[in-house]
Amino acid sequence: MNIVHISTELAPVAKVGGLGDVVFGLSRELIRCGHDVHVILPKYACTELEGIQDLEIEIEPIRTEYKGNTLSSTVWRGRVKEIQVHLIEPHSEVAYFERDEVYGYEDDVERFCVFSKVALDYLVAGGYQPEILHLHDWQTGPAAVLFRKQYRERCFPHCQLIYTIHNLGYQGQAFPEDLDALGLEGKAFLSQEQMGDDQDWGRINLMKAGVVYADAVNTVSPSYAKEILTPEGGKGLQGTLWTHRSKLFGVLNGIDYDYWNPESDPYLPAHYNAAGKRKAKVRAPSLGIQNKDVVKQALRKYTGLEERDRPIVICISRLVPQKGLDLIRHALFRTLEKDGQFLLLGSSPCSETQAQFVALQERFAHHPHARLFLQHEERLAHLMFSGADIIVVPSLYEPCGLTQLIAMRYGTVPVVRETGGLADTVFDVDHSGRCFGEVNGFGFKHPDEGGVNYALDRALDLWKRQPRVWGDLVKNCLNVDSSWTRSAQDYLGIYEEVKVCVGVKS
Ligand code: ADP
Repeated sequence: MNIVHISTELAPVAKVGGLGDVVFGLSRELIRCGHDVHVILPKYACTELEGIQDLEIEIEPIRTEYKGNTLSSTVWRGRVKEIQVHLIEPHSEVAYFERDEVYGYEDDVERFCVFSKVALDYLVAGGYQPEILHLHDWQTGPAAVLFRKQYRERCFPHCQLIYTIHNLGYQGQAFPEDLDALGLEGKAFLSQEQMGDDQDWGRINLMKAGVVYADAVNTVSPSYAKEILTPEGGKGLQGTLWTHRSKLFGVLNGIDYDYWNPESDPYLPAHYNAAGKRKAKVRAPSLGIQNKDVVKQALRKYTGLEERDRPIVICISRLVPQKGLDLIRHALFRTLEKDGQFLLLGSSPCSETQAQFVALQERFAHHPHARLFLQHEERLAHLMFSGADIIVVPSLYEPCGLTQLIAMRYGTVPVVRETGGLADTVFDVDHSGRCFGEVNGFGFKHPDEGGVNYALDRALDLWKRQPRVWGDLVKNCLNVDSSWTRSAQDYLGIYEEVKVCVGVKS
């Protein structure tokens, strides 16, 4: 199958959060299954170009009608691992992507409207005929409406459109004039059935464009697919999602098993696996689980924690309200009360939140058992996922969540709020009703301090009082299969299903 993703992130070269991981992991698995996969991305100033092999100009200029003028762009091509990538570089005084960050600018709507349209023009100019065009989140919502109203019939009659909602918390509010700029008549799209924002009359909702105009819509876990149909989870889009529920699916994310691999992770000083076996080749180092302790020591050294026989609890997260900021803070204090050690790695796009955590960081700067790192750091993330005993993920809502999956891959036990993908992937030792061989963590329902205590206390107590049982729980985590193999098959199932719906629906 020929599959093209239009995305604003791709790990590891342009990654802000889970979206980048998902597009990377899914694309690699689809390629492994023999499919032809391309990813179209903006060429940000902050793209890590050294991670892209054989980068060269592919086509220039691509001409795009925008605001009644012609905008010209250069498209670069290269490879990230085996994924063929195409980077869009529009030439404009506005410098749409020559910025330090991927998101967070006042003109984000305009930036990603431009990207969406140039991406489609590039597909036309390059003569691509994808069978599946896969869009992600509100930033590529404009591509959904453009594809249905201007491009499909004329240029891609056999292409089906898939739209993935990674997080309904960000919907992209625009004005009709933003659509006018793309050559669409903005006001004509204001109705509730089209792209009119259900909560703010007169505005256009770009996430809604994906939901309304795609042939199939999915979100990133079965539980979240149900939650978004409710007023609490739908964040205003529940009515639209309910109308389109027959084409709505929930597909759990996987993680890239080569990149996140305790057997070979280049960031780790020692390696291990569940079986603790030697590597196949003679004289290869032992992969015994005791090597997790070697990483734990290295983690203490790297972060300045005191060397003591205590459990290490971590949190790796964007510091935004969705992630349960008060509960993260509470988990830190509770861990210290219960004689654990705590490490936080995270950063916030909001200067006020960042300042609050900087204050907390300073307070613990010389504490023997807690440290906060308020930056994005890949190496430290790997060391923490592997060297820790417990990860806390106290999200208020969580479409899928990757950190609990990555942590389990490294034998680190998750303590999570039971919501969305966290509820689908973490099975509580005490109350999930599963036999011990099938449990892998601790959960709580109510997003308050009592909830955190209920789950975190049980985890810390088990670590302290029953080390053997804890060891078995660590093995259960190591044995969880979160690879992309099953999820990619689910996506292929959706691709196949929409392909049989022949005929152009405009
Ligand atoms: P979201 O997409 O909402 O941010 P996910 O759990 O789906 O949350 O994905 C988060 C991803 O970003 C994970 O791969 C996690 O390891 C990574 N991450 C988050 N914060 C940091 C950080 N400060 N440094 C390194 N990696 C981070």
